[in-house]
Formats: sequence, structure tokens, C-alpha cells
Amino acid sequence: GETLGLMGGGQLGRMFAQAAATMGYHVAVLEPGATSPAGEVALRQIAARYDDAEGLRTLAQTVRAVTTEFENVPAASLRALADAGLRTTPSADAVAATQNRNVEKAFIKRAGVPVAPHARVASEADVAALPAELFPGILKTASLGYDGKGQARVANVEETLEAFRAFGGVECVLEKRLALKLEVSVIVCRGLDGATKTFPVSENVHRNGILAVSVMPARIDDATANRAREYAGRIAEALDYRGVLCVELFILEDGSILANELAPRPHNSGHATIDACVMSQYEAQVRVMAGLPLGSTEQHSASVMLNLLGDLWFDEKGEAATPDWAKLLSIPGVKLHLYGKAEARPARKMGHVTVVAPTGELAMARAREAARVLGLPEPI
Ligand code: ATP
Ligand code: MG
Ligand code: MG
Repeated sequence: GETLGLMGGGQLGRMFAQAAATMGYHVAVLEPGATSPAGEVALRQIAARYDDAEGLRTLAQTVRAVTTEFENVPAASLRALADAGLRTTPSADAVAATQNRNVEKAFIKRAGVPVAPHARVASEADVAALPAELFPGILKTASLGYDGKGQARVANVEETLEAFRAFGGVECVLEKRLALKLEVSVIVCRGLDGATKTFPVSENVHRNGILAVSVMPARIDDATANRAREYAGRIAEALDYRGVLCVELFILEDGSILANELAPRPHNSGHATIDACVMSQYEAQVRVMAGLPLGSTEQHSASVMLNLLGDLWFDEKGEAATPDWAKLLSIPGVKLHLYGKAEARPARKMGHVTVVAPTGELAMARAREAARVLGLPEPI
């Protein structure tokens, strides 16, 4: 079969490659490491940096379409691949728009979707000019932050100046700190023809800045869920997006919905689509880049996803340990996904468990049992 190109060798790429293989495609992955979770299940890994001209040339000679699993892939590399005649889904422009929080927020607002009150901070003069109503706030670097890295909680201008300097004076955004009722996300996919579909809303719980649990569908009323999905679709259209996009949203106490940030790729909060939806977010990614129609985003089973971080591979004394997979897998509805990473490190994403059931209540009951077996905190 045809070979599809992938920038990035992480677990999102691995699940993409698995979906591609299911549909008869091969995958060639460009990734700096010698081995990778995606490379392990791909036909071929081109070991090169994402901006390496030779590596990009090799990829361009191997495939006709390319996608990314890594949100900080250089937009210039995607542009070079497009110039070499490859179909790039998403496009370099769409990826670039999501790589700077200030640009991203401007796109979201243009789509008619609200965002948190914020101001661009690119100089000490910008800090001095910040209005009082943005405090208490969160100063975020405009680029390259993830898992809460590159963020500082600030109470006033003085603290913002200190944090801005600590970040090395790079471009930032100051966002007003909001009282969140719930964090949710919507995975949206958009085909080459512009057809747009959204997956059910996922309800997300973070621990130490890292996604810990996703409940799909989110336990919110239909009107709120529909609005969240509508917002996500509008953002994808405003970006003229092709491929799979994650839209992170905040729900506030008064029921209003704001967009937080975008990820131009499948997302951790959408893993459950593999086991709980007719088409997974990864299959959607394959379909778009192959120029095929989108499938159904309908959810056939309720689900709760538990992230498995490297911490689970160590006991209380810090000695290496292995989770009790046999006990976990004796729970009905449990699907185990491990990413094939050789070395476990604290906070490293090693795998996830999706628990499915006919009802949300039963899925949650089973997820509680799974969390207990694994030694994780109560899911929600
Ligand atoms: P990710 O790992 O999702 O890419 P990130 O490092 O890019 O995270 P954000 O998603 O912007 O950062 O923020 C991380 C978390 O911080 C959010 O999930 C939310 O819990 C909290 N947060 C971010 N912005 C705000 C805000 N304006 N008000 C209140 N809480 C916020
Ligand atoms: Mg982010
Ligand atoms: Mg986020």
C-alpha cells in the first residue's frame, strides 16, 4: 500500500501508525531519535532532526502526504515539504498559527469564540502597561510551553516583571486567572473538501499540570456540549484546517465557554476515541491525509481514560516495579495501551487505560476499580 509520512515519533504517532496499518497503509516517520514509539510500528524511521534538509528530502521522496504528531514541528519544514509537492495536513500556516498563543488567540476570536481576557507581553514596557483587571493572572510563554511548563502565576505587575525576566524576556501572554468549573476538550476533524466533524466533548482532569483523566462524553448538559462542539468546528474553519485539531476549552461557573488553546494534532484527551467511537481520532487523521471521506465520530460506548505515567513503574521506596496488569485486565471493559517506551521516568507518558461500558456510571465505577488496582487517586 501507499506510504504516509509522519513528523514525530511519539505515542500519538504510534497510534496514528497503528490506525494507518489497519487501513493498509505504511508509515515513514521522521524523528531525531534512533528508535521511537512510532518508529517501532512504522515501516521506516528516518533518523533526522525536524529541520534537517537531508531528512526532509528523504521523506519527500518516500511519501506523497505528510502529517504531524508533534505540535512544535517547525512550520518551515512543513512548508518545505508542501513546496516539494507533498500534501501536508495540517498545513504549515495552520500549525504556525497554533504555535504562538497570541496569534492563536487572535484566530480564535476571529472565529467568534471567546477567550480569557489577556494581553501580549513582549517587553518590559508591555509589562508596565498591563491593566489591573488582568490580575491575578498567569504569564505564559507564547511558544513551546506544554504540561504547564513556561507558566507563572502572578498577582501584580512586579511579579509579572520578575517572571518575564525569568523566562528570558521572550514573547509571552498574560491571561487573567479564571475560576474554572470544568476543563473540556473537543477533537475536530476536517477533510480536504472542508467537511467538518467533531467528536463528543471530553471532560479533563489534570494533576501536576499533566492530563490525568478524561471522561467522554463530558458530564455537561446537551446545550453546553453542542456549543463546545460548535466552537471547535468554527475554529477549524477559521484556520482553514485540514486534519485533526484539539480545542481545549474552559467552562466557567456561569456556564460560559472559553477556548484555552489548540493542538494541531490528535490529543491525549482523545485517546478514548480508539475504543469508544466508530472512527478514532487517528483514523480520522489517516482518512484526511489519504483524501478519503471522514467516518462517523459517534460514540458507541461510554468511556473513562486514565493516563499511565512513569511514576507507576516505581514503588514507594523508588525501586523499579511493574503495575499488576493481570489484575487490571480482569476488570471488564478495560483496554490497555502501552507505548513501548523502554525506560520509565516519573511524569513520562508510558501508556493509558480506556475503560468502556454501556453507561457513563458503569464506566466510572470500572475506572475507579482500575485506579485502585493501579494505585492511582480516585478518577474524579
Ligand atoms: P498542555 O499540556 O495542555 O499543552 P500547556 O502547558 O500548554 O498545557 P495550558 O493548557 O494553557 O498550558 O494551561 C495549563 C492548565 O493551566 C490548564 O489546563 C488550566 O488548568 C490552567 N489554566 C491555564 N490558563 C488558565 C486561566 N487563564 N485561568 C485559570 N486556569 C488556567
Ligand atoms: Mg498546550
Ligand atoms: Mg493545555
